[in-house]
Amino acid sequence: MILALIGLFAWTILRQQSRPSEVDTSLSSADRPSLPPTESRANGGDTNVDLSVAVNQLFSSLDPSRPENQYLPEFAKERILWITTQKKAGKLSIILLKNTDNTNLYFEDVMASGIVEGKPMIVINGPRFLDFLLEGERTSPPFTQRERNDFAMGLVHETVHLEKDNTANPANFQDRLAEELRAWRKVDLNVVRQMRRLNQPMNPRLIEVDDALRSCDDKADCELLREILSPTEQTR
Ligand SMILES: [Zn+2]
Repeated sequence: MILALIGLFAWTILRQQSRPSEVDTSLSSADRPSLPPTESRANGGDTNVDLSVAVNQLFSSLDPSRPENQYLPEFAKERILWITTQKKAGKLSIILLKNTDNTNLYFEDVMASGIVEGKPMIVINGPRFLDFLLEGERTSPPFTQRERNDFAMGLVHETVHLEKDNTANPANFQDRLAEELRAWRKVDLNVVRQMRRLNQPMNPRLIEVDDALRSCDDKADCELLREILSPTEQTR
């Protein structure tokens, strides 16, 4: 199956160690080589990770009915449950991409979502997801709390993109940026802030966004947040 996934809204978190050769954003997306995320695999030792198994295991570990997941904010639990039921009903697919060819994804994007041929879809960027697991140092259960939190917040972020409120045209930069501002803010106010209050570990970008929104008094039009999100949206 070959899909051209160019109309996606993504969720980007930064790697712990950025790799200078790959963070050169001066290349236009057309010139940018399809990113060869094999470097960490070469360095990372354990290369035998079945990513589709890992995606399923990590998702299962977030089951909102499990006692250990009761700390998750209600908004996150509802969205995770929504994904489960939609998926079972065949109304939502979760797709693991081996590479980002034929997509508008940036190599830092962990996941993305969109309506493809009329059907809602959440896409996991395989190479980036592998790095995410290797950085977390757990590629199989039990996953670390930070891996679980980051993955949960990414999924919640994508469900916000899949809402009816998203009327943005993904091909248009201003539209896309406005939609990212809406999604990051909504997830921040409903999930990230509560998780922070509980001292839950999470990716620094989530904290950076939360700090920016606080300094804007949580207003929807937040220049600081725009500055954080613009660079990655510009590279699509
Ligand atoms: Zn997004």
